[in-house]
This record gives sequence, structure tokens and C-alpha cells, in this order.
Amino acid sequence: MARTYLKKAPRTAQTDATETQGIVRGILTEIREGGDAKAQEYADKFDNYSGPTLLTQDDIDAASVKVSQKLKDDIQFAHDNVRRFAEAQKASSSDFEMEIQPGLIAGQRIIPVNAAGCYAPGGRYSHVASAMMTVTTASVAGVQHITACSPPQGEEGVSPAIIYAANLCGAHKILSMGGVQGVAAMTYGLFGLPKADIIVGPGNQFVAEAKRQLFGQVGIDMIAGPTDSLILADGNADAEIVAVDLVSQAEHGYNSPVWLVTDSTDLAQKVMTRVPELIEDLPGLNRDNAFAAWRDYAEVIVCADREEMAACSDEYAPEHLTVQAADLDWWLNRLTCYGSLFLGEETTVSYGDKASGTNHVLPTSGSARYTGGLSVHKYMKTVTWQRATRDGAKRVAEATARISRLEGMEGHARAADVRLHKYFPTENFD
Ligand code: NAD
Repeated sequence: MARTYLKKAPRTAQTDATETQGIVRGILTEIREGGDAKAQEYADKFDNYSGPTLLTQDDIDAASVKVSQKLKDDIQFAHDNVRRFAEAQKASSSDFEMEIQPGLIAGQRIIPVNAAGCYAPGGRYSHVASAMMTVTTASVAGVQHITACSPPQGEEGVSPAIIYAANLCGAHKILSMGGVQGVAAMTYGLFGLPKADIIVGPGNQFVAEAKRQLFGQVGIDMIAGPTDSLILADGNADAEIVAVDLVSQAEHGYNSPVWLVTDSTDLAQKVMTRVPELIEDLPGLNRDNAFAAWRDYAEVIVCADREEMAACSDEYAPEHLTVQAADLDWWLNRLTCYGSLFLGEETTVSYGDKASGTNHVLPTSGSARYTGGLSVHKYMKTVTWQRATRDGAKRVAEATARISRLEGMEGHARAADVRLHKYFPTENFD
């Protein structure tokens, strides 16, 4: 049976990126030439902020006083979970060395970058969790210089909870600056910061475009588009919970797609009735975001069976994927394209977004086809090394000389020849 779309929409936001590209290119050029003062000028222009940019210990202490003990406990709890998970990731990859041939030894080392710039968005919502996700993983990876940056909220500066979280999770410097200017400041090493080797973290279209244009000069984790989420639910799923979960993710933004894929028309219809009611009940901006996302980008798809549901999900390659269906192990083994998978009604994307420990910086817009999300590995370089005994390298030298000459690379061949003639002067290698 072909899929039936009870609700169909464009897969991703149809935006014209040309204008954003031009704006970002202009700002980056000006900041590259104008340095700290120009970056500060843009902070003033976009975020109405002219206060101190690089926070001092006094600023951090003052922010800490404004955060309630209950919230501090929650941030500590979430940080501990993210750290534990990142530590397990780090332990799962390691240095090694091996003898490829007798006397020819090679190995790999996993080395963290020296400096990371972690972006915590702060325009629409105060993304405390993004500060935890990016800074904690950088710290566990062993990055020596971690800068966190986030947009100031007018003259109030950066949200105290973001400052508190970034400091707790291991940021060495905190920059009160967001958008293109924040990314540029960390990349170019403004305000006395070390130049970042990698910029990580989510952000709006200006942040994403700045990372795209700067890639090459600096590493990036990924280019994140609007958040997207897909729920796979069978006929036994709780329609109320499915509907609440869809709404929770549509809240991210007006262009955040949510998709329901099911083999039950009855469930689909119940959910489609309930979602608008739940959206209506959200507070102001959250309601507007979820309403537009549901109207313009949500899809409800009915499939014949679970195999067709899984194939549909892999094709969409969602950032967040939830399964509310029987036989969770079958789904875990079958599904291949997602940023993070939430198995069963007892968990939800919100847990991963905020506190359960898996990272919430995840591939969007179908890029889960070829990449996972932020992990300690994104901050680490897998590099290789080799050494050899004279005897051990004899065979490799002969092979290298012949392959090089076949390719026409005489200089390469001679680097092998010179060793053969030096170490084995009495032998003929023609
Ligand atoms: P943001 O921090 O990304 O952007 C705010 C900045 O945008 C401001 O500091 C300002 O400098 C800049 N800006 C605003 N208007 C501009 C303009 N006209 N020209 C140039 N610069 C301009 O915060 P946001 O806007 O709230 O966006 C946050 C994004 O991050 C959302 O899309 C959200 O979905 C996403 N997000 C994703 C994840 C994830 O893991 N995928 C997690 C959290 C947030």
C-alpha cells in the first residue's frame, strides 16, 4: 500500500537564503577589518547591549546569585548526566598502535582541539541547556580553551542561568555577544580570546550562515536548520501523549516541522483533532510558533505496516525520532537515520533536550542521513603516526618507489630510493 498523507506539507522551510548570506558576509567583513569595536557595535545594534563583553569572575558571581537553588540543582543534575554520557563516548574511542608488517609500526592518536567556541542561542528562548550540551562535551573531550557565548538580552546582558551553567560546565571565558558577531569574535580571537579551532552549537539562520561561511577557517560541528521531529506510533499508542509530544516540538519555531507516521488511521485522526486544542492552550509566543509550525510544516502519514513506517522515517531522517509502538528492540535495530532516538512512551524528546544526558545539538533537515549530533568526537581529531626499522621498511620502500614512478611522481620515488641505497648499499633495487 502506498502511504496516505492525512496532512501534507513542504519537508523543510522554503526560505531564500540569498539575503541572509549577503547580510552575514557584510557583517563578517566589517568585523574582520574593524575588530572588537565593530563586533561591539553590532551587539549594540542587534541586541541593544553596550555593557562588558568578556565577563569577569564578579559578573559570574553576580549571575549566580540571581539563580535559584532549585534551578542550580537541576542544572547540576543535567550537567552530571551529560558529562557521564560524554565520558562514556570518550572511553569508546582510543589510541592504538599495531605492527602492520614486521618492523613497520603505525598508530592513531585522538587529540582534542586546543580552543572551542560554544554558542548558546538566546534570542527567542534562553537556551540554558545548549550551554550545558556544548560546554560539557568540550570539557570532557579535554579542550584547553573553552569560550561560551550567548546573546545579551538588552542591557541586562546574558541570562544569569546561561552564565551559571556555562561556568559550572567548564567554560574558561564567557562572552556576552550573540549572532554573527559572537561567532566572529570567537573565530577571529577578538576580546583577547584564543582563536577558536571549532565553533559548535545551534542558532538561528544568521548563526548557521556565519558558521557556513567561516568553515575552513574554523571547524564546525554542523550547520543546523530549524528543529524537526518525527513520531512513529502504532494503534496502541496513547493519542494524548503523541499529540502533546508533537506540540512540544512544534513550539521550537514557526518553521519547525513535526511529523506523525502511523499504521492506524484512527490514532492519526484522534491526534489531528487534539493537537490544535493543545496549541491553543499554550502561552503567547509558544502558541504562535506551534500554530504556524503545525499549519505550515506538519505532516500526518498513514502506512500499511511497521516496515513501511520505518522506511518512511529513514527517508525523512529526522533530528528527533520517537517510537511509541510495540517491540521497541525491533525499531532500535531497524531504524538507521536519526539524530537521537526516544524509545517508548516513558521517555520524550524534552528529556533529551534538557536533562537526560544525550546531546541535544543534533543534525536537522535530513542531514541525519550522513552525520550524528554533537559528541566528544566532534572536538577530537583522529590523527595517525608511523615509524619503522630499516629492515621493516625495505619492502614498503620498494613498493613506494615503483608505485610513485608509475604515477609519474619521481620525487616521491627518490625519497624511497635514497633510503634503500643508504641502508642496503650492496643490493640492486632496479
Ligand atoms: P540566536 O541566539 O540563534 O540568535 C540571536 C542573534 O541573532 C542576535 O544576537 C542577533 O545578533 C542576531 N540577529 C537577529 N536578527 C538579525 C538580523 N536581522 N541580522 C543579523 N543578525 C541578526 O537565537 P534565536 O534567534 O532565538 O534562534 C535560536 C535557534 O536555535 C532556533 O532556530 C532554535 O530552534 C535553535 N535551537 C536548536 C537546537 C538544536 O539542538 N537543534 C537547540 C536549541 C535551539
